[in-house]
Amino acid sequence: MSVTIALAGNPNSGKTTLFNSLTGSNQYVGNWPGVTVEKKEGKLRGNKDISIMDLPGIYSLSPYSLEEVVSRNYLIDERPDVIINIIDGTNIERNLFLTTQLTEIGIPVIIAVNMMDMVDKSGNKINAENLKKALGCDIVYISALKNTGVAELTELAIKAADGTKTIPQHSFSGSVEHTLAHIEEAVLHKLPEEQQRFYAIKLFERDAKIAEKLALTGEQIAHIEEDIKRREAELDDDSESIISAERYKYIDSIINDCLKVKNKGQLSISDKIDKIVTNRFLALPIFVLVMIIVYTVSVTTVGGWATDWANDGLFGDGFHLFGIENVWIPGIPVIVGDALEAIGCAEWLHGLIVDGIIGGVGAVLGFVPQILVLFIFLAFLEGCGYMARIAFILDRIFRKFGLSGKSFIPILIGTGCGVPGIMASRTIESDSDRKMTIMTTTFIPCAAKLPIIALIAGALFGGAWWVAPSAYFIGIAAILCSGVILKKTRMFTGDTLPFVMELPPYHFPTVGAILRSMWERGWSFIKKAGTIILLAVIFVWFTSNFGIEDGSFGMVDMDNSILAAFGNAIAWIFVPLGWGNWQAAVAAITGLIAKENVVGTFGVLFGFAEVAEDGAEVWTLLAASFTALSAYSFLIFNLLCAPCFAAIGAIRREMNNVRWFWFAIGYQTVFAYAVSLCVYQLGMLFTIGSFGIGTVFAFALTAFFIYMLVRKPKKNIRLGFGLKQEVNV
Ligand code: GDP
Ligand code: MG
Repeated sequence: MSVTIALAGNPNSGKTTLFNSLTGSNQYVGNWPGVTVEKKEGKLRGNKDISIMDLPGIYSLSPYSLEEVVSRNYLIDERPDVIINIIDGTNIERNLFLTTQLTEIGIPVIIAVNMMDMVDKSGNKINAENLKKALGCDIVYISALKNTGVAELTELAIKAADGTKTIPQHSFSGSVEHTLAHIEEAVLHKLPEEQQRFYAIKLFERDAKIAEKLALTGEQIAHIEEDIKRREAELDDDSESIISAERYKYIDSIINDCLKVKNKGQLSISDKIDKIVTNRFLALPIFVLVMIIVYTVSVTTVGGWATDWANDGLFGDGFHLFGIENVWIPGIPVIVGDALEAIGCAEWLHGLIVDGIIGGVGAVLGFVPQILVLFIFLAFLEGCGYMARIAFILDRIFRKFGLSGKSFIPILIGTGCGVPGIMASRTIESDSDRKMTIMTTTFIPCAAKLPIIALIAGALFGGAWWVAPSAYFIGIAAILCSGVILKKTRMFTGDTLPFVMELPPYHFPTVGAILRSMWERGWSFIKKAGTIILLAVIFVWFTSNFGIEDGSFGMVDMDNSILAAFGNAIAWIFVPLGWGNWQAAVAAITGLIAKENVVGTFGVLFGFAEVAEDGAEVWTLLAASFTALSAYSFLIFNLLCAPCFAAIGAIRREMNNVRWFWFAIGYQTVFAYAVSLCVYQLGMLFTIGSFGIGTVFAFALTAFFIYMLVRKPKKNIRLGFGLKQEVNV
């Protein structure tokens, strides 16, 4: 017999942790809502007949967000055999709102009170007997993280699968119950008895999606409507508020009966930390400090040393093993180069392998240590609960500018990779806010942009600590400014919906979880270097070594190659930005395939491996073709312009509209160009006092930019491009 068990609960209640522990799979455990938008299925460890479903986290079964719709459609259409309602034991009151609704669906419900490790630590007591009586379902104490109580929970759930349906113990006030009975009788009598109550309540709440699902006729709706109106007049409130108010009253009474709080009114350690960390004045400086530490340590210190070793040693001429004076290990290009020479391989193949493949891919792989350090930091910040605070802190600031707080989740996910970041924007209800978030998420430097940042910081700024953090804050500033500018245009006006987010208590993430998360992301970076980057550098090597010289095609000097011809043809575009050499132009273009390609391309074009063999400092040739200012302008352009193909594809899918897609890509690129131009031209003016047509342009652009930031918003709710905007009033 096969059994399906669904895990339902609030965001952050530990569903995914429990799911992973039940199925032995390795789903992403996130610390913010919206990570699980899709439901995920797995098989119970050791019993293939039992399927486990991880549903998106929800606070209610209302139809207002994608998560709610996905979860409830699954529950009412697929009707799993059992629902495990996982609730956060440190916050039962809020969690029970969903519980009261789950018990109305007519499916056996088992309540797993999670985070018991924390509850026990706090000294609070939850009375399972009373809770069971009040809600009519079995209660199991668990800790998904510590894996306690999980076996008992599984056993109970399997047993409940063929048992009786949970019967809701709560009744609404007399007149509401009267109306519900009336609705059941009028339009729901054909449904199985145990399902009627859920539908009746939803119809009472005027849930249009449910009315549609039931295919009610206009006549039937009018009939019910009459009843609802009467109740509303009597109770002097709208029907939805009547239902939720009664639910809250009921939950209050349960809490009184079942929860004994120790040290009432005293602050927990988490609350104490939050008093400082989310303090009105301290929050922002602390956030800035944390991010400076994260980027400085990963790019310039710990990660920087390791990368120097990788670049100069492993992918360079070699290194002393463990620093021992006379144990010299030659670098990969040297070993491979010697081997190729020994077997007498053709010169062009030697060049392709050593300068092209090892030079290009090696240049990218050389940055793996820094990426791994960054990933450790990100996994820790997320695991301990600080990321959720960042969303909260930034929300407070951005709200002042009329921007939606929910945008931060995609942006924070985007620090790892833009693709899941863009996908996470699905959870934003307001259409215009969602589009705006899709357009701006990739401004934040993702892991693939880190090598570019690290390269510029190392090769042109002598490893200055501030370069990497500045890239991060430029990303945030770009999002903020774009938000303000776009919000004032006709296309994006409208109020933003309030953003409610529960801050999980701080806790030390396990070392295993951090390493796992680091390795997963790091591995996909390495895989990318072995596939798409490899292909790209081979392409770059061929096109930069072949061309037409003296009327015949063959291997040529790099400056006469096909790629140089192409680069020179487009380089003029970037002259105003300060980096009009063909190599930089080509790198910016190959960066569209994958951002690591910027570094890979430089690796090939600046004869990375060869230079290293001569014992010269790597990247010196690169440094010679930039100034500090032009390098910084190059960095900004590559950070802000259209992202890589994968992210561009994600934008295309999420926008689901060609014009919007091109608008997004166009906006990003124009924005990047304008900012880089201003930085370079004004920088030149203020450093060496050069003044020209570019400077005039820069001033004009800056003035326009400031005007766009401060002008009065357009009040028009019609959206361009022929789409109708959801009106959030
Ligand atoms: P979901 O949003 O419901 O899928 O929740 P997750 O499984 O992603 O967990 C949210 C956070 O709570 C993560 O940081 C988990 O490590 C943490 N967590 C989950 N279960 C427990 C538990 O039993 N005890 C403690 N202390 N933390 C937990
Ligand atoms: Mg989850």
